[in-house]
Amino acid sequence: MEELVPPRKADITYETETPVRYETRGPVAWIVMDRPKYNNAQNSQMTYALDDAFQRAVNDDAVKVIVLAGEGKHFSAGHDIGTPGRDVAKSFERRLLWADHVNKPAAEMLYTREHEVYLGMCRRWREAPKPTIAAVQGACIAGGLMLAWVCDLIVASEDAFFQDPVVRMGIPGVEYFAHAFELPPRVAKEFLMLGERMSAERAHHFGMVNRIVSRDTLQAEVQAMAEKLAAQPRLGLWLTKQAVNHVEELRGKRAAMDAHFHMHHFAHAQSDLTLGNSLGGQDAKSMVAANKKEAGEG
Ligand code: ZN
Repeated sequence: MEELVPPRKADITYETETPVRYETRGPVAWIVMDRPKYNNAQNSQMTYALDDAFQRAVNDDAVKVIVLAGEGKHFSAGHDIGTPGRDVAKSFERRLLWADHVNKPAAEMLYTREHEVYLGMCRRWREAPKPTIAAVQGACIAGGLMLAWVCDLIVASEDAFFQDPVVRMGIPGVEYFAHAFELPPRVAKEFLMLGERMSAERAHHFGMVNRIVSRDTLQAEVQAMAEKLAAQPRLGLWLTKQAVNHVEELRGKRAAMDAHFHMHHFAHAQSDLTLGNSLGGQDAKSMVAANKKEAGEG
């Protein structure tokens, strides 16, 4: 089954060498995903650039608050499943204590890779010792949810929407399975099983989003919120963040994610065995087409 072999390294064409911008505005570090041409689809190149940026912001004592944002029309279209820069088969210097995934056979390849670049990285960023704010506009889909959810606060523009459509691939939700913590369980089931878009307004209703602002004022509102946070004591903020995160752990968040991660990979493996494709026979094009149809756009 040829499809089991991941795309060769030589097939990767990056459209940019800097998929993430880093800038400071006063005491606030802005980490901006910068692949607007592909709606900020997250490849490994971007993942490691994000990790570099978080590390830089944490290392700089002058930075009190970290903002995660996306350039362009959309915050994030999710994991890169189809741009020329899709780099699943490329080795990177790992940040966590996992083996390289590239030479691993069959299901072990993705299982190893996603430990590092998805579940592992998300947990690492969630634990950054400074307050983090996601500034979300437009689409926040699948892997994009993971990036917003690891932040302490989420500010969304009125046009933002949230969606995890991966059940269409036969997969029970993205790797960082916070769905049933971000939303009441019955709503999480609806969100996943139907795979529909959730408006910023509905997400706000469930407490998944802290504030909704206009698209024009998103950056200014987030900067103002960040500056207000920056005036609070550094250690007090870190301890507060840890206290609330710990409550989530006591409610089983980490254990639930570990259990789900294995279901997620059972689904990838089943898909490989039956279709020779770990994404249920879907690709970026078919997912976009199905999403447009679902949203009544095509
Ligand atoms: Zn996966």
